[in-house]
Amino acid sequence: MRIILLGPAGSGKGTQGELIERHYGFPRISTGDLLRLEVMKGTELGKMVADIMKSGRLVADDLVLRVVRDRVDDPDCQAGYVLDGYPRTLNQALLLEKIDVGRPETALEIMISEETVMERLSGRLVCPECGTVYNVHNNQPPADRRCPACGAELTVRNDDRPEVIKERFRIYRETIGPLLEHYSRKQVLFRVDGQRTVEEVFSSIRSILDDRIRGDRGASSRP
Ligand SMILES: [Zn+2]
Repeated sequence: MRIILLGPAGSGKGTQGELIERHYGFPRISTGDLLRLEVMKGTELGKMVADIMKSGRLVADDLVLRVVRDRVDDPDCQAGYVLDGYPRTLNQALLLEKIDVGRPETALEIMISEETVMERLSGRLVCPECGTVYNVHNNQPPADRRCPACGAELTVRNDDRPEVIKERFRIYRETIGPLLEHYSRKQVLFRVDGQRTVEEVFSSIRSILDDRIRGDRGASSRP
């Protein structure tokens, strides 16, 4: 099973991806992490990616596809995997279907309002020293705004400023349409209400995936 997580930043899809990985044993694949790893390892591909990232351009589809293809070929992805942050466009979705042909799919859209995203992300403070993330809703930052772990003054990440959050959400809304249509046409799109607790959202996801996995077993026994 190929599980595709769709949702804007702040929808909690990273957390849900980790929960799926833990529960089902399908590795969570984040293309952002994969690209950063290539850069860190200093591979030929990594050097190309680093140049592109430095210039602020988007990494081209064929490069991202290369790292995804290498990763999904790994033995631990045999039974399935969870994609977080990929595909982002219809073209990427079609390319993905070509490199891993015939694999049953489930696209999960975590639905969340712009207001909730704003509330979640704008309450986020990070420690510039040790990287710990504090959130007014989950991991309450101390009143003096100093990191309990190392004493540094907590700051708001540039990405978490309201105008940046708004713009990112707008771009998500604008680009996600064709992808949702694609998965809906294939009848593999499932929507989950993301405005609930992590546990509630995961419980909905689990009941969808349990059904899907059972269904695929049935389907594969047919001629
Ligand atoms: Zn710290």
